[in-house]
Amino acid sequence: MVFDCHIHLSEYPDDRLRRYARLNGFFYTLEELLSSMDKEGVSGGLLLSPLLEDGSAVPNTHILKLCERSGGRLSPVLTVEPSREWVEDCVETFTKNRGLVKAFKIRLGYVRVKPVNQVFSRIYDLAEEHGVPVMFHTGDTATERGSLEYSHPLLLDELAVSRPELKIVVCHFGNPWIMDAAEVAYKNPNVYLDISGLFTGGGEYRDKYVEWLSNRVSEAIYFMGSAGRVLFGSDYPVESLSEAVRFARSLKVSPGDIERIMWLNSKEVFGFG
Ligand SMILES: [Zn+2]
Repeated sequence: MVFDCHIHLSEYPDDRLRRYARLNGFFYTLEELLSSMDKEGVSGGLLLSPLLEDGSAVPNTHILKLCERSGGRLSPVLTVEPSREWVEDCVETFTKNRGLVKAFKIRLGYVRVKPVNQVFSRIYDLAEEHGVPVMFHTGDTATERGSLEYSHPLLLDELAVSRPELKIVVCHFGNPWIMDAAEVAYKNPNVYLDISGLFTGGGEYRDKYVEWLSNRVSEAIYFMGSAGRVLFGSDYPVESLSEAVRFARSLKVSPGDIERIMWLNSKEVFGFG
């Protein structure tokens, strides 16, 4: 079984991720995504809001609609922006869709706000109360207007310490700060790491780079001493589902740990199925 905890999709013409879709030769439609899930044996996934060309996020209402049309294959993640109105809206949407919403997402690096900021307190309270994880973008940003200072995984240590009951997902394994992200997870038992969106497109050194990543992520797992909090994700359309699955299966860890990464850990932390 495979569960993809990090998928993007929208029908907005100004969706910034269409560039990645084009690069990878995808139509970037719900039909294409679902048929590719069938082909790769991905039984379910979490749908996260993509960013638009102006840097803002696709509204959560659109994500909820796409999930509804997926016939239960995709579950929504609510993106939370740092404003009182947006937070209130998310609290309301979460309450109305109790059980359906599997996580919240904060776009570190796209919004220049630190994770411990007061503006997110109500979301963290709600997440703790319902055992729902909060996912954080970390590492390189999809646009040069992003801020690396605000997307560094070390920023999550303070939040993890101050809220030990909050489940935190560090997206993209903090890439390129892979060992920094591993240390945050090693130190804090409430921190998880997803392996989504680590590579995209082609280029002369693509295969070498993917091999380098596979070694780095494997070594980070040795450092942590366990793959118990590592989660499979593709970041479609940044990666194809087939490449993402191949990458995860290339990690030099035990077959039992591969199973945990592919779906067991996600089942535990997001509570699906
Ligand atoms: Zn993403």
